[in-house]
Amino acid sequence: MKLYENKEIQIEKFISGGLSNNSYLISNTSTNECLIIDVPDNPRELINKTPRNKFDKTLNQEKIKIAITHGHYDHIEGLDLLSERLGPLDLYIGFADANYLNYPGTVIRLKNQNEINITNIDINLIYTPGHTEGSVCYFIDLDEKKFLFSGDTLFPGGPGKTIDSQNFKKIYESIKNKLYTLPKETIVMPGHGDSTTIKDSLEEFKEFDFKNNVFGDISWKN
Ligand SMILES: [Zn+2]
Repeated sequence: MKLYENKEIQIEKFISGGLSNNSYLISNTSTNECLIIDVPDNPRELINKTPRNKFDKTLNQEKIKIAITHGHYDHIEGLDLLSERLGPLDLYIGFADANYLNYPGTVIRLKNQNEINITNIDINLIYTPGHTEGSVCYFIDLDEKKFLFSGDTLFPGGPGKTIDSQNFKKIYESIKNKLYTLPKETIVMPGHGDSTTIKDSLEEFKEFDFKNNVFGDISWKN
């Protein structure tokens, strides 16, 4: 599904895997460079749409990069098939979440770095611990449109699931102090389901009253 297109950049969304995960492909149509965000199970459509060299897979490493929002299995399950088809690639993931991986390409563990540059786009890294310790959101500003790939950190209606109250405090602070400072028109593209905007999400958040002892599936409108 095509989400956005300008003269140079195209963003597509794919849904696959048992938990209906989203993956995203940001590609530069003039250079054929691209960034894949998350690789759920059965990523056949994603692979088919990725501009790649079928005859010499070693050429793919320079043009195609992978960014993972967090290490939960449903966001990385398709990596085996992807590396079989495209060869080993460079993969970015939050430092702590790299432990979930067993990947044959180059794993770049993100920690203090602020941005990565791929396909001539600066991708801002926003570290958002809570859903997992190494959750990272990827923000891109294409002037007329801004996108946040939020993984399982922020969804329409509220935050992603947390396993205890300490992690709920972390995700709450990540969202409140980092994601909610982004421009209001930013389109939030989560790891499952539909998109929202920072503006709409802030509107839902207004009613939320933080309590120290809650966690799990929390909605801002509880
Ligand atoms: Zn998750």
